[in-house]
Amino acid sequence: MFDAIIIGAGPAGLSTAIEAQKAGLNSIVIEKGSIVNSIQHFPAEMSFFSTPELLEIGGLPFTSSAMRPTRVEGLEYYTRVADFYKLQLKLFEEVNSVQKNDNVFSIQTDKNKYQSKAVVVATGYYDNPNMLGIPGENLPKVSHYYDEPYGFYRQNVAVIGGKNSAAIAALELFRHGANVTLIHRKEKLSDGIKYWILPDIENRIKEGSVKAFFSTKACEIWEKELLLENDRGERFTISNDFVFALIGYHPNADFLRSVGVEVNTETVEPKCDPNTFETNVAGLYVAGSIVAGKNNNKIFIENGRLHGKAIVGAICSHAR
Ligand code: FAD
Ligand code: NAP
Repeated sequence: MFDAIIIGAGPAGLSTAIEAQKAGLNSIVIEKGSIVNSIQHFPAEMSFFSTPELLEIGGLPFTSSAMRPTRVEGLEYYTRVADFYKLQLKLFEEVNSVQKNDNVFSIQTDKNKYQSKAVVVATGYYDNPNMLGIPGENLPKVSHYYDEPYGFYRQNVAVIGGKNSAAIAALELFRHGANVTLIHRKEKLSDGIKYWILPDIENRIKEGSVKAFFSTKACEIWEKELLLENDRGERFTISNDFVFALIGYHPNADFLRSVGVEVNTETVEPKCDPNTFETNVAGLYVAGSIVAGKNNNKIFIENGRLHGKAIVGAICSHAR
């Protein structure tokens, strides 16, 4: 019987595990992939937007030679932190269900069954991309994740979306020889694009290096073309070899509901106490980016890493 089981070894889950350990709780982290699995699958050559100290957990310094650390530096850092604290991690073990009976949680994974007095769900959003919901979206040429630009040289690549992921992918693809077309449903790119990226993408569009269709949505994806529609209702096609639909992510609402957590149908936010992150299911907490539902720009590593302290405080006060 554990005091706390944490599901997900992202920055939020790891920082919660460190706080649990500091409080003397008997806890484990169960992670379906590798440590910081989401970051592992981020674009290969990305740099974080955050400066290193804002990504730190467990009070351990994160140093980087540049102002913004790379994904690889992040992977190294979080691995070293887990080593330093000797965190108990069950890696490559997926939680399939959580059930509560007589104030004890039973956690069923694809390998084992565990029991715990408290559960912290820190599963993020990155596994569940938003979908366009249009014909052809399941073709192999369509991806909801961008990794690296190599492999798209002289190919007609469409990037759908108007925020940071779309802007960065469009720029990288263009700079590595792809013929890029950006498609966004709004009349202009988001002001939320970082200040060092926005002028770059705007100027590439202005000079015609990156083609762009604003106030336009994709209606159908075909083998060699895309069918688009602008806000005047005009439909037209463009040549296309690959599509990156970079339109954001959302938490796994079905999993939360299966546990009994109330989830806002529109925002996918789990119902929880804003101070303790305890959900409507007593003893079950949410931590990290899952708390903001599908609003990917509200809770990120910088603030989600702080949830663990409040959660562990609440678990300890319930135990007293
Ligand atoms: P995650 O890091 O997503 O961790 C969730 C973990 O849960 C994953 O490891 C996943 O494998 C695991 N999991 C899921 N389901 C299960 C299951 N059923 N069983 C077991 N394990 C499971 N934020 C910043 O503050 N600064 C940045 O510079 C920054 N850069 C970003 C760059 C990109 C490209 C993206 C997409 C996001 C970026 N963010 C940044 C946002 C940030 O990465 C996320 O908000 C952060 O990862 C959230 O941490 P988390 O621990 O809540 O979730
Ligand atoms: P996002 O910020 O959620 O933006 C999604 C974009 O897709 C928005 O422009 C949105 O349009 C559009 N969109 C959503 N649903 C759509 C639909 N059904 N059809 C057409 N367009 C749709 O997602 P993101 O850019 O992938 O960013 C996700 C997170 O990663 C954010 O926290 C971001 O800061 C972070 N990130 C960090 C880095 C980095 O640190 N290096 C890099 C990239 C991303 P509207 O504007 O109309 O809503």
